[in-house]
Amino acid sequence: ERIVTPAASPQEDAIERALRPKRLADYVGQAKIREQLEIFIQAARNRGESLDHVLLFGPPGLGKTTLAHIVAAEMGVNLRQTSGPVLERAGDLAAILTNLEPHDVLFIDEIHRLSPVVEEILYPAMEDFQIDIMIGEGPAARSVKLDLPPFTLVGATTRAGMLTNPLRDRFGIVARLEFYSADELAWIVRRSAQLLNVAAEDAGALEIARRSRGTPRIANRLLRRVRDYAEVKGGGTVTAAIADAALAMLDVDAAGLDLMDRKLLSAVIDKFGGGPVGVDNLAAAIGEARDTIEDVLEPFLIQQGYLQRTPRGRVATPSIYRHLGLDSPGRDGA
Ligand code: ADP
Repeated sequence: ERIVTPAASPQEDAIERALRPKRLADYVGQAKIREQLEIFIQAARNRGESLDHVLLFGPPGLGKTTLAHIVAAEMGVNLRQTSGPVLERAGDLAAILTNLEPHDVLFIDEIHRLSPVVEEILYPAMEDFQIDIMIGEGPAARSVKLDLPPFTLVGATTRAGMLTNPLRDRFGIVARLEFYSADELAWIVRRSAQLLNVAAEDAGALEIARRSRGTPRIANRLLRRVRDYAEVKGGGTVTAAIADAALAMLDVDAAGLDLMDRKLLSAVIDKFGGGPVGVDNLAAAIGEARDTIEDVLEPFLIQQGYLQRTPRGRVATPSIYRHLGLDSPGRDGA
């Protein structure tokens, strides 16, 4: 398993919960979303209403689940959590919806993976706080309308483009999460170090932050591995030198790229002459699923300017040639 994968692993569940900020004030970065939510939450509370439905999209590990929990905490309500693939039948969702308390938050992760029949139930639930359920079977079956308590749906997805239009249109608040700056991540690393009782120098925290691909989940994971290294190889304190040595050992380079990134970028350069190459061809060449490339690998590479997405496919940029120590075809005419 990649050390720098932004995907959550089940073993990390408990530690992630412990490191999760609980209130908006402790949530670092994403200034625009924070400001919007602050206002909308206060307004809803003042009116005694449920908050409008919220759609959060952005790559894994940027804090969508954390934000859903914070919305519930700030609204002073409970959060029920489920995910698109878990809700197989209409009845699964109906059971959850009818058990909500007024103004509760229902968090649906991977909402783009809802089955069409479940999505159908969601439309009237979101719009009118009502659902139609079938009672009985065969000729005696009839449809009954049930009123639901007003609730807030918080949906999370890695790519907004994967949602159907009718579903996307039913969210009043749509927010895109951005990669974090190194300074923001350094702040998160220092906070986590404190919670985990790890001695970390500011320069050590910043070194980890710089190599965490703009992603808090990765920053927290790298901190734990660097702590191990510091305890065994150093005096226990996370310094810049210790962080650098530990991350080099883990094949995480100065820019946070690992072997998998380098494999992808080298394939674009060596097998496809720097591109453009279609994502399916690229997936076949490196033996990865197309979704993994689009959701996990390339968002950061594109954001950092190493890879470009063009209508004709992916293209390696001069900065990745420089980063890999290669001559750029633009410069030497090769
Ligand atoms: P997502 O749902 O987008 O995959 P999570 O909300 O599970 O991401 O966040 C992953 C981890 O990163 C959390 O456990 C939390 O500790 C940390 N984290 C995420 N966003 C922030 C933030 N803005 N400030 C501090 N820690 C954060």
